[in-house]
Amino acid sequence: MNPLDAGSELGEPSPILAGVTPSNRSMFHSDPDYPADVQECLHPPMCFKAGTLTAMAKFKVSKPWRGTTDQRIDKFTKLVADLSGVYGIQPPAIDSTGVDAKASSGSSYYMPLMNLIKLQGRLSVITLLHEFAHALGKSEFDTCRWSLNLFRRVFPTQFEKLEFQGHVARRRAAD
Ligand SMILES: [Zn+2]
Repeated sequence: MNPLDAGSELGEPSPILAGVTPSNRSMFHSDPDYPADVQECLHPPMCFKAGTLTAMAKFKVSKPWRGTTDQRIDKFTKLVADLSGVYGIQPPAIDSTGVDAKASSGSSYYMPLMNLIKLQGRLSVITLLHEFAHALGKSEFDTCRWSLNLFRRVFPTQFEKLEFQGHVARRRAAD
């Protein structure tokens, strides 16, 4: 389960980052391993394994928000393959049968036994990074930290838009 639901990184209502604010911590109470807020995730800034940013740069050039669903899934799959190479893991399979542009990506998850990333709801770059970090075997806290830092580093413009969606996120969290 991905509590940091990246509904969208393009300015649509997104509960992901804005949802992780001090005023809205209750969504994390069920798991103390989740970071308490965004700042806890993002500071201090972190370094990434050599090759990570190169793989992300290639992904960025591919314009991950452009194209048909199938084309975008293809871009996501290539990124997972590239990052898996960087980290020396067997690339997790991606199950995209639950992709739905009208639904939240928050129910996406990584299934360790099958080494499978199940993408659900709308395609979300942050969610993909989050689930990939789980495939690396990271804890929930480190998964949040790795994926949010990496997203901010590579997509600063989209990141800023996310932080701006606070009120929308709270409404969504109350669903
Ligand atoms: Zn998670």
